[in-house]
Amino acid sequence: MTAHLENLNERQREAVTHGVGLADQSAAGPLLIIAGAGSGKTNTLAHRVAHLILNGADPRRILLMTFSRRAASEMARRVDRICRQVLGDKAVADGLLWSGTFHGIGARLLRLYAEQIGLAVDFTIHDREDSADLMNLVRHELGFSKTETRFPTKGTCLAIYSRVVNAVSSIAEVLKSAYPWAINWEEELKTLFAAYVTAKQAQGVLDYDDLLLYWAQMVSHAELADDIGNRFDHVMVDEYQDTNRLQAQILMSLKPGGRGLTVVGDDAQSIYSFRAATIRNILDFPNEFSPRPADVITLDRNYRSTQPILAAANGVIGLARERYTKNLWTDRASEQKPRLVTVKDENDQAGFIVEEVLANREIGMALKQQAVLFRTSSHSGALEVELTRRNIPFVKFGGLKFLDSAHVKDLLAIIRFAQNPRDRVAGFRVLQMLPGIGPQRAATILDTIAADPEPLLSLAEIPPPPKTGDDWAPFVTLLTALGRNDHGWPGEIEKARLWYEPHLDRIHEDPETRKADLLQLEQIASGYPSRERFLTELTLDPPDATSDQAGVPLLDEDYLILSTIHSAKGQEWRAVFMLNVVDGCMPSDLGAGTTDELEEERRLLYVGMTRARDSLSLITPQRFYTYGQNTRGDRHVYASRTRFIPAMLLQFFEQTSWPKVAATASGRSASQIRIDVAANMRGMWK
Ligand code: ATP
Ligand code: MG
Repeated sequence: MTAHLENLNERQREAVTHGVGLADQSAAGPLLIIAGAGSGKTNTLAHRVAHLILNGADPRRILLMTFSRRAASEMARRVDRICRQVLGDKAVADGLLWSGTFHGIGARLLRLYAEQIGLAVDFTIHDREDSADLMNLVRHELGFSKTETRFPTKGTCLAIYSRVVNAVSSIAEVLKSAYPWAINWEEELKTLFAAYVTAKQAQGVLDYDDLLLYWAQMVSHAELADDIGNRFDHVMVDEYQDTNRLQAQILMSLKPGGRGLTVVGDDAQSIYSFRAATIRNILDFPNEFSPRPADVITLDRNYRSTQPILAAANGVIGLARERYTKNLWTDRASEQKPRLVTVKDENDQAGFIVEEVLANREIGMALKQQAVLFRTSSHSGALEVELTRRNIPFVKFGGLKFLDSAHVKDLLAIIRFAQNPRDRVAGFRVLQMLPGIGPQRAATILDTIAADPEPLLSLAEIPPPPKTGDDWAPFVTLLTALGRNDHGWPGEIEKARLWYEPHLDRIHEDPETRKADLLQLEQIASGYPSRERFLTELTLDPPDATSDQAGVPLLDEDYLILSTIHSAKGQEWRAVFMLNVVDGCMPSDLGAGTTDELEEERRLLYVGMTRARDSLSLITPQRFYTYGQNTRGDRHVYASRTRFIPAMLLQFFEQTSWPKVAATASGRSASQIRIDVAANMRGMWK
């Protein structure tokens, strides 16, 4: 047996070698690998890709899709490592595989086929915020924002639009199921969405959903579907449980009959229904094909977690209403049950984590091997403060990104506007940086240049608008030069920054910190080969926030991981801490209206718990601040343990509290007394 297969168990090996060795490799029928967390699904998929390559498949003809670019590049690295192990040091896969997210791959294909499908070749991509801004512009133009009854906000309009697209549904259906209060707006929304699509096309911009939608449209034409499908002998998808209907449609059109198609996932870990993901994709996959259904391989051994951690996680998911994948087993024995740690409040929660993290490091567990997970990005606030105070470096995944800050968006808008002067959202942003230009005048300028086949030349011919004074000429010079590519890449970022900085002083507070960020952005830009790649990849998968606010992970250093549970998918750490495992946070008050939503929150807890290899701590503060209401500093609510760990599951946990009672006996009794006294005071007046 070849070396790379030796470490796999029998079922994993079966999945890796499935269909390989047939005369026509792409004849391997569709395959579904469905199994619980930590059973080696991702590892198996990586081995399968390597195995295919080692057996003669062309890596340039393999398409590998995962839920984040980080996961995709990690997978590509793994494939390369396995191949090198077998072939000595010869690189065979490096940089050749098509790997990325659905959206990233969509962007790449659309660039290739833009001309053929009538798309502007230099299209720019709008992030969610830009999309909402454009939706808002259109909404204003149609007069819907002025109607007497409350029309959905720009964000809600975009959410409805996005759901219709991703769930391959109708406005009526989406309104009925998720926005019943807006049901009377169906006609107006139809008009709005039609106008939104027209606006995007006129301006040569695509939003995130378009990357999938155009792709799906493209492959719904048999000829193009063949052409694109034939680029790839193998198409593989990890985390298939979190794909939506549109993505499934794309896959089925790429590989009708399922030849060379492998998908991998775990229904118990489906956590993205708010983005229209549907568990039906994975459950229905086997029967999508005829005459022969897909082969299904399940895995039953967990290699990640110790037995007590696995038992607790199985306990939690065992209470789920529905589940296809079965419980796993492990031979990783341990005496240490996962801990349920009671702390007073979020400050103590932060104190506990810092103490534990440092203690773990003392015994040789690097910060990188530890992670703190939470339901919502804002939950880590107190911890971030404490980590910063104690000089413990961290990287935060998910949540607010470096690129969301106004000044970074400003600089990017300049570059984007130069690339595509028809992009109105970028145009509005850029023009209004100039003194004397407001929305009205910006609109007039944008109309004028958009009517010209050479918008930037037309910009140069516009007489300086009133009050722009000496600022107009340098602005036109900059954009003309950027449009002509005079400065090359990444030189143009520096030129744009130098032009922008004096304006930044006027527009934003705290200019010095912001300027440091822009320098940082320049550095990030120099890591990309071209403007187009930079803009696309940055928009689709921005770098994560770090404790030194640099916006790029400190690659060589040791740092603690802070992550939303959603962004922790597929990963593992030796020690995992979960914040605010209390009702109201987990399940979230916001997310848990219906039974389905509640079930998804339960799966979220399961996903979090199953990230841990050796040690797991679920922390339950007795009170936590209610976000958005804590402006007066002391608005908090008393909290109780999450309902997903009812009394019957407590046997799987060790219950402790922190700080240990002995150490701070006086502190604890003081807070006790205060509550007692308060009760007595109220009693006095009865
Ligand atoms: P998730 O559902 O969380 O995405 P997964 O099923 O994709 O998990 P992997 O991440 O592939 O699981 O594997 C979990 C851990 O188990 C990894 O550390 C991996 O290296 C290890 N592992 C997988 N298969 C084996 C094996 N046959 N022998 C030893 N270790 C293995
Ligand atoms: Mg995985």
